[in-house]
Amino acid sequence: MQPQTLKIEHAHYVLTLDGGRRIIQDGTILVDGPRISRVGKATELAGAAADRVIDARHFVVVPGFVNGHMHISYAHAVRGIFQDDLGSPLPYVFKLQMAMTEEEEYHTTLLGLVELVRNGTVCFVDPGSTKFPDACLQAYEDAGIRVILGECVADQDAPFPLPRYGTEEAIARTASFVRKWDGRLHGRIRAWAMPFSPETCTVDLLRGAKRVADEHRTGLTLHHGSSDAARQASLARLGLRPTEHLEANGILGPNVLLAHSLGLDDAEVDCVARSGAAVTMCPVTAAKGARGIAAHGRMPELLQRGVRIALGADSPNNSNHLDMVRTLNMAAIQYKDARQDMRQIPAELALEMATLLGARALGLGDQIGSIEPGKRADLVCFDTRRPEWQALFNPVNNLVYNADGRSVHTVIVDGQVVVDAYHQTFVDEERLFGRVQEIGERLLARTGVSLPRSRWPIE
Ligand SMILES: [Zn+2]
Repeated sequence: MQPQTLKIEHAHYVLTLDGGRRIIQDGTILVDGPRISRVGKATELAGAAADRVIDARHFVVVPGFVNGHMHISYAHAVRGIFQDDLGSPLPYVFKLQMAMTEEEEYHTTLLGLVELVRNGTVCFVDPGSTKFPDACLQAYEDAGIRVILGECVADQDAPFPLPRYGTEEAIARTASFVRKWDGRLHGRIRAWAMPFSPETCTVDLLRGAKRVADEHRTGLTLHHGSSDAARQASLARLGLRPTEHLEANGILGPNVLLAHSLGLDDAEVDCVARSGAAVTMCPVTAAKGARGIAAHGRMPELLQRGVRIALGADSPNNSNHLDMVRTLNMAAIQYKDARQDMRQIPAELALEMATLLGARALGLGDQIGSIEPGKRADLVCFDTRRPEWQALFNPVNNLVYNADGRSVHTVIVDGQVVVDAYHQTFVDEERLFGRVQEIGERLLARTGVSLPRSRWPIE
């Protein structure tokens, strides 16, 4: 059993993300059970005792990171198999994902969780990729992470194999998933409605899924994008843009999280802002996938309109890493270049999207995302005794522009230390890595997915 009270003492800097965005130098955080009880100068809290005291003199402490879109299921087993000249990997993605067995998905999920927590992510949204949540429950519990789950449903044909049901069945499955899973693991699991996308779901299914989310006071996420071609087609067919079509059918709202959302025009940005919907953007996936941030990315406009934006890693075969520091770095730099304007997405705003704003986007802003008394104790301690952290004058700039997840030293979720001095203790990593490699080899052989391993000869 871990200690009930925890003191993170003499932190070099605490980036609180509180209302005043205070940065406390020589700060101390007190944790009582799952919650933060006090935050202040080390001198003010010197007299407070705790079951465990963490010496944070060399640490920059930040709120735990939130990953708003992260398909965790299959990809670790076959990461890196898609070469740059492949074209769309989606047909392979779904074929491999559909073929996972329960035991295989448990192990690949476990590896995903190891990578997430060791890089400081304490909460993620899996947009319905997990086929065997019952098997993965033990992994979520062992890792101590927060996860938003759902069952991916569709009722239309797709150019790739998706779980397809009749409309009513898809809605019923969504409702029963939410009832079964929402609030488990002391509230660390939330269950949402997860229709795949407007292209693969009828309006009736989307409305039904939204109704389930509203009735159960939970969320809904779906993949959403737009583009000039999609907009023209939608205008010709329905007289509405794709995002307007969602709004007109009552599918947008404060409990809705739109994933990706590239290619929106001004009218669609208005739609999202007006409806109060939130967005997850995946900057590394967008860049790696050559999605054209300069032409299609509207992150600055969405933020200006007050839209809550979370950052996502998408998948270990899209981004391909799960390092939120590298992700927020990409968010901070790609719009500067695209707009040829260094004022775009300042470092502070990028950090907000990975923490407080991301938590708000997931409907968890009252519980996590900042370091304040009463909030859940989800904390990441970065070790500054590394070359990339030197010299240290502005901890936000150093974190966003210099560092990456390799300097994550200690991670705390709900007051429990889940990464301690760079080590997680819930799994034997070496054995797991071997296991996942075997699973990948087996999966490729079983599905007949055969891609050239390398553009260069491997002897
Ligand atoms: Zn996705």
